[in-house]
Amino acid sequence: MSELLIFERGQPGRSASAQFPRHESAHELPAQFVRSEPPLLPEVSELDVVRHYTRLSQMNFSIDTHFYPLGSCTMKYNPRGCNSFASLPGFTQRHPLAPESSSQGFLTCLFELQEMLKSVTGMAAFSLTPMAGAQGELAGVAMIRAYHVDRGDIGRTEIIVPDAAHGTNPATATMCGCTVKEVPTRADGDVNLDVLRELVGSQTAGIMLTNPSTLGVFDKNIKAIEEVIHAAGGLLYYDGANLNAILGKVLPAEMGFDVMHINLHKTFATPHGGGGPGSGVVGAGETLKPFLPIPVVGTTANGYRWLDEADLPKSIGRLSAFMGNAGVLLRAYIYMRLLGREGLERVADYAVLNANYVMVQLRKAGFDIVFPDRRASHEFLVTLKRQTKSKGVTAMDFAKALLDRGIHAPTTYFPLLVPECLLIEPTETESKQTLDHFVAAMTEILAEAASSGAQCKDAPVTTPVKRLDDVRAARQLDVRYQPPETDGGAQIVNAAAD
Ligand SMILES: *Cc1c(COP(=O)(O)O)cnc(C)c1O
Repeated sequence: MSELLIFERGQPGRSASAQFPRHESAHELPAQFVRSEPPLLPEVSELDVVRHYTRLSQMNFSIDTHFYPLGSCTMKYNPRGCNSFASLPGFTQRHPLAPESSSQGFLTCLFELQEMLKSVTGMAAFSLTPMAGAQGELAGVAMIRAYHVDRGDIGRTEIIVPDAAHGTNPATATMCGCTVKEVPTRADGDVNLDVLRELVGSQTAGIMLTNPSTLGVFDKNIKAIEEVIHAAGGLLYYDGANLNAILGKVLPAEMGFDVMHINLHKTFATPHGGGGPGSGVVGAGETLKPFLPIPVVGTTANGYRWLDEADLPKSIGRLSAFMGNAGVLLRAYIYMRLLGREGLERVADYAVLNANYVMVQLRKAGFDIVFPDRRASHEFLVTLKRQTKSKGVTAMDFAKALLDRGIHAPTTYFPLLVPECLLIEPTETESKQTLDHFVAAMTEILAEAASSGAQCKDAPVTTPVKRLDDVRAARQLDVRYQPPETDGGAQIVNAAAD
């Protein structure tokens, strides 16, 4: 018995009283809606349920149990206190349609969050409504489009995106009806300015940039990029999914950006991964402020209120029900209140220090750092091209071998332009001991790879699920349960086949 499915733990007639269907309510339903057979629910006791799900949760990698250096994702520790305060009954029991008069506490938090986000970015205003990073991007590029159209400049339909960009950037530009123009990266990690100059013109709507980039370096020519784009009549979008490297150090507005989003679920205290709730708040400078999505929290003579269509007639409109992901917004607010200005700056200090420490230690251990002459931001890139060529040990093999050592794999094969890469982001919340343990594990795997490489090919061997056939897992996903009686013994059928 694999015990991965709760159905496999069931015994006919066993039940948990709290889950037992209330038969009498069935009689109140019109006959045609009452099912003729009972649903195929697992027949388990409450204790079975508790043990089953507790055991499943222990099979997972999580920040609470393992080091998780997943580049571009900022898997750091999120203080429990942020969650406790955001879970106060006054917040969780507030109805989203409650009138402003009885929502002044909630509106105060959101207004102050907008103000704090302005001060960490230099933007003129924020809207808290996007529900994820990608939706924040959608808002930002829609605002750039709306701005050009509003001025009657309707031919600006091209968005420039570096080849190192996160996949959501070109996807967003396309979703907004724009054409993507890719600008290449130079060997030193910076955007190729010469090509950029040739790409811009009267058709340029703007550029989407991550800085520090997803290559882990801060573009030395950011001011020159700004001049090229603005001189061509375009605007600059800042992908601020991860602000860990720059908090309190440099403002995207000072770099010349007109609009940006921040993933509160990466930088500001909401646990994520596995598709948890997110927030991609969007900020704008003076030029794009009128186009922000609604609602935005504004002030009245003696309190706060939602600004809507009447206040912001040029707004790109609404992106989410109500006002965004309230729980995520509140955790970010509390996190910033807990840390204060100095604490936020410390986040950047340690995020960058930890990344550079691990980068230097790995270089000493014999790893090839992709940009050895650049200082790391909150993350950096290693390439295993050499190991792949000599022994056939790939970045994926390294990632799997780390799982056997109790470490979540770094991001693999991203950015796409660096072959056999690992994007490593240690974050500021890890101790030197944990970082040293990671370096030791990496060094051990490197030695294995140098000898025969065979061990790495079998990894992982200690995890509940061993090495998967990636293609079959994607193409022939088996996730549907079929009880044994009805199909003659096969417990799981191939959903993709029917
Ligand atoms: C995570 C990330 C995104 C997308 O954020 P989602 O909330 O997953 O939509 C965009 N850009 C960068 C650089 C990211 O790291």
